[in-house]
Amino acid sequence: MSYLNRESQENHTSLKLLPCLLSRFKLVAGELIRQLDYKASWYGRVLIQVDRFFPSSKRCHACGHVLDKLPLEVREWDCVCGSHNLRDYNNALNLLAVGRTVGEGGFNKPRSMHLN
Ligand SMILES: [Zn+2]
Repeated sequence: MSYLNRESQENHTSLKLLPCLLSRFKLVAGELIRQLDYKASWYGRVLIQVDRFFPSSKRCHACGHVLDKLPLEVREWDCVCGSHNLRDYNNALNLLAVGRTVGEGGFNKPRSMHLN
């Protein structure tokens, strides 16, 4: 068996394992969310899951403008409103805003939330 054939066969085997690994990852992620929900309830808090496609980094926390693209290497950006946004800080402010709007029929209602 040539090197290319062996590599091709290994890739094929890896692809066969992919659904199994994905299923395993979903189980682990589900357990993590369950644990976070439990701990949140324990401390009288509410766990809120924000939609994975919510543009928390690309959305200006000051005016709500959403950029079309924001490459990962861009850590700071200036909005059309004049706000200078630090990527992670802006992200945190947007997620905080989403959390505060839950239950108030906010503009970016999360896909799901856990309320006890
Ligand atoms: Zn702005």
